[in-house]
Amino acid sequence: MTDPFIPNSPAGRSPGGGHTSLFATALAQLERGADLIDLPNDLRSILSQPKNEIIVNFPVKMNDGSYRVFRGYRIQHSNLLGPYKGGVRFHPMVDLDEVKALASWMTWKSALCEIPFGGAKGGISFDPSGLEADELERVVRRFTHALGSNIGPDHDIPAPDLGSNAQSMVWMMDTYANSTGAAERQNVKRVVTGKTLETGGSPGRDKATGQGVVFCLQHWADEVGFDLSGASASIQGFGNVGGATGRILQVHGTKVVAVADHGGAITDEDGIDAFDLTDWVHQNGTVAGFPDAMWIDPDDFWSIQSDILVPAALENQITVDNVAQIQARVVVEAANGPTTLEAETALTQRGIDVLPDILVNAGGVVVSYFEWLQNRSAEQWDLDDVDHRLRETLWRACDAVVNLREELEVESRRDAAYALALRRLQVVYEQRGIFP
Ligand code: GLU
Repeated sequence: MTDPFIPNSPAGRSPGGGHTSLFATALAQLERGADLIDLPNDLRSILSQPKNEIIVNFPVKMNDGSYRVFRGYRIQHSNLLGPYKGGVRFHPMVDLDEVKALASWMTWKSALCEIPFGGAKGGISFDPSGLEADELERVVRRFTHALGSNIGPDHDIPAPDLGSNAQSMVWMMDTYANSTGAAERQNVKRVVTGKTLETGGSPGRDKATGQGVVFCLQHWADEVGFDLSGASASIQGFGNVGGATGRILQVHGTKVVAVADHGGAITDEDGIDAFDLTDWVHQNGTVAGFPDAMWIDPDDFWSIQSDILVPAALENQITVDNVAQIQARVVVEAANGPTTLEAETALTQRGIDVLPDILVNAGGVVVSYFEWLQNRSAEQWDLDDVDHRLRETLWRACDAVVNLREELEVESRRDAAYALALRRLQVVYEQRGIFP
C-alpha cells in the first residue's frame, strides 16, 4: 500500500520528475567542507545525522465536519552551540529528506554568523492555500500541541519558512504559552521568532532574509569590484524573500528585469517596479498577469540576460537542464539549496560566482536571534539598530569566508563557508568532549 502522506509524484523536485535527494546534496557539501579542514571522522559521523527526528501525525477537524490527519516534522540537527533553531515549512513537498537537509543547513548558518544557536527545521506536508483561515489555525495549533515539550524558549525555537508567516508564529506562541503554567507564561514568548511586532516580533524581521541577501551581495560586489547601481537582476520567487530582495535592490539602483514564480514569468529590460509587483502579488498570489511587464514562457526565464540571478523559491531549481542558459555574473542563493551539485560545478567552470545559501540567506535567523534577545530582556530595538547589527554580523561572516577561502586556496565559496562553520563546531566539540 502506498503511504497516503507521501506525495506519489515528486514532480517539481527535479525537472525530470526524478527525486533529487536534498539530504544527499547536504551530505556531499558537508564532506567537501570537512575534507578541506581534515575534520576527524568521528565528528563527520556525528554531524552527518540529526540528533533527533520527530514525526507527529495529528488529526484536525475540517469545516465540512471530517477529520484529516496531517504529518508534521521537527528535525533537530545540532544543539552544540545553543538551542535548536530553524523554521517550519508548510508545503505539500515537505518530507523527511527535505527537512533533514534544511535542519543541517541551519546549524551551519548559526555557526557562520556566530550566533548562539544550533540547527533545526520542521514542517507539515500540506498546501496551506487550500484551507480556510480557521482550519489553518487549527492545524498550526494542533501541530504545536503535538510537538509539546520538544520545542521550548531555550530548547528549540521555530520561525517562519516557506508557506508559514508571522501569524502562524503567533498561533504557535499562544498555544505554547497557554500550555505553560500561568506564572511562566510571560517568559515563553521567545519560543518562536518571526512573530508580529505587536506580539513581540522584532522590527526588520519580516524583510531580514532579503535584507541579508543584499548585504551579502554588497560585500561580494565590493570584493570583486562590481557596481550594484545600474546592474540588472532576475529573481525566481517573489514571496517574503524574493520580494524583499527585489525592493531593496531597487532602492540601491539595481534594475529587476525578470521575475518568475509558480504562476508564470515576466520581464522588462527597463526594470519592473518591485514595489508595484509586491502589491500585485499580495492581491493575486502570483506575478502572472502583472500588467506593467511582458509575460514570457517560464522556461525562458533562465536565459534572460541579467547580471545577478537570485533563486528565491524552492530547492533544486538550477540543474543540469537549465544551467547552460544562465548568463549571469553571479548567482545569489536566497533560497535554501536552489543549485544542484552538478549545476554548481558547471557555473563555477564558466566563471559565474555562486554565493552560498548558508551565508546569503542567514539574515532571517540572525534577526530571529535579535528578536529572541529582545524578548528575553523585554525590550524593543529600533529598525536602524536591527539593520546595523545585521549588517555587522553578516559582513563579519563574509569577511571570514573570504579570508578562509584565500587561506585554503579553494575556488568554491560554499566549500569555504562549510569549512569555516565546521571549524567553529570542531573547536567546541574538542573542548566539551562527548558525554557520557
Ligand atoms: N526559515 C529561515 C531560514 O531558513 C529562518 C529561520 C529562523 O529564523 O530560525 O533560515
